[in-house]
Amino acid sequence: MGLLDRAGARLTAHPEEAEILVVNTCSFIDTAKQESVDTILEMARFKTSGSAKKLIVAGCLVERYRDEIRKSIPEVDAVVGTGELESILEAAGLSTPTAAPVSLFNILGSNGHGHAEVRPGQESRAATHKQAAEKPSTDGAGAGYPQRGSRPLNSGMQSTQASDPEVKFRSEGNLREQQGRFRRDDWQGATHLLPTYLYDEQTPRFLTTPKSSAYIKIAEGCDHPCSFCVIPNLRGKFRSRRFESVVAEAHQLVARGVQEITLIGQDTTCYGEDLGIKDGLATLLDALAAIEGLRWLRFLYAYPNRITNRLLDTIARHDNICKYLDVPLQHASPAVLKTMKRGAGADIFLKTLEKVRSAVPGIALRTSFIVGFPGESAADIGVLEDFVKEAKFDWLGVFSYSDEEGSGAFSLDAKVPQRTIEARKRHLMKLQQSISKRAKQQWIGRELVVLAEGESDETPLLWEGRTQFHAPEIDGKVYINDFAGLETLEPGRFYKAEISEAHDYDVVAKVISGPL
Ligand code: SF4
Repeated sequence: MGLLDRAGARLTAHPEEAEILVVNTCSFIDTAKQESVDTILEMARFKTSGSAKKLIVAGCLVERYRDEIRKSIPEVDAVVGTGELESILEAAGLSTPTAAPVSLFNILGSNGHGHAEVRPGQESRAATHKQAAEKPSTDGAGAGYPQRGSRPLNSGMQSTQASDPEVKFRSEGNLREQQGRFRRDDWQGATHLLPTYLYDEQTPRFLTTPKSSAYIKIAEGCDHPCSFCVIPNLRGKFRSRRFESVVAEAHQLVARGVQEITLIGQDTTCYGEDLGIKDGLATLLDALAAIEGLRWLRFLYAYPNRITNRLLDTIARHDNICKYLDVPLQHASPAVLKTMKRGAGADIFLKTLEKVRSAVPGIALRTSFIVGFPGESAADIGVLEDFVKEAKFDWLGVFSYSDEEGSGAFSLDAKVPQRTIEARKRHLMKLQQSISKRAKQQWIGRELVVLAEGESDETPLLWEGRTQFHAPEIDGKVYINDFAGLETLEPGRFYKAEISEAHDYDVVAKVISGPL
């Protein structure tokens, strides 16, 4: 979006207004693939009706079904994989190839010569995936970013491992590659080489998050062998963004009014290993926490055996690092975790959680599990339920196992019937609901800093907000029903509030003072 914006496209979240439609896709589990395909088909209707001239499909679905998309949905004009981000400009007709086209995809414009109808410099309008861009920021967040420097960047066919000497991998990643971890042979049409793309602080960004909040991706790819997961096949080997690049981007964002930064990556706790940085994530958090004006800093997706004492000490030491840890555990039965190729089990996890809670008192813990992994027995589910009762997570998500071609688990026997999977999922969620309800009752009377996000969708009389114990979009909500005499609240501002009511996952609060 940042690239399109800088090239002169005017972004809109309304597909009926767009000349160029871009659907950014996901494909790591069945439901994500289905949602992606449904959205492409929905957008294709605007092409058929003539209101849109181009339909571009981007993202992980392309990495998986590159040829298939083109074959099955003729309305699609171009596909752009995760490793060829900059090709979006050519696909949209906002750049002219100087020589032979460098990307693997062809643009099937009406002229059929790989050129789009919109000429460079001409104003164009692009719509984005309607979910990703429901509330696009119109503050032009990307506009003032420095222009790209001389650092080589990947595009099209150049985004291969061989052609980007700057990208170094961990020896673990190289070893896993030799063992076939990243193979895509089972995916017909996934012809493109593994992506190596990494954005940097000079890559323009167009923020779609509320003004006060932003995500920073600190690394891409993953070297773990989890047998249910095809993300490494889609995203490639683990590689970290340069330390200085992440810090520079954070400074730029804070200078633009961002007060909350959430660090993401498939494997954030591995950050810096490929760059030879010891305790990379902790060192990065130290550097980012020192940025004046940054109120909340957090990271998501910790790998359980990489939660070091140094990392916990760093979270505890800085007031502006949220006391929040998201650690997807996937299961608790040692037998299931072994076949998942993740190892450990309930006992080890309970020790880890104890260590985390004693190092960072009051920390909110989030996890997610997969139920219905091949071979999962009623006894395994029993182990998981006992663990959930004991661990008392603040936030918990449960995914149904999705049997993905190309994953290690795909060839396993003893697949669990879908009905059983759904029943196990419902049961686990019900269990967590009662745990959460009891825990939220303990919140009543607490005074917390709340970030006001805006009017509730349900009624304008209520506002929605979050505390440091809620990550954006994923956890429960704080509903604010009393503004302490203020006529209204300001979105993106922080207030002191007292929790007055608790529900299963959400709480209600009244403002005491602020904005802070
Ligand atoms: S660590 Fe996460 S992204 Fe990496 S293989 Fe395992 S589940 Fe997939």
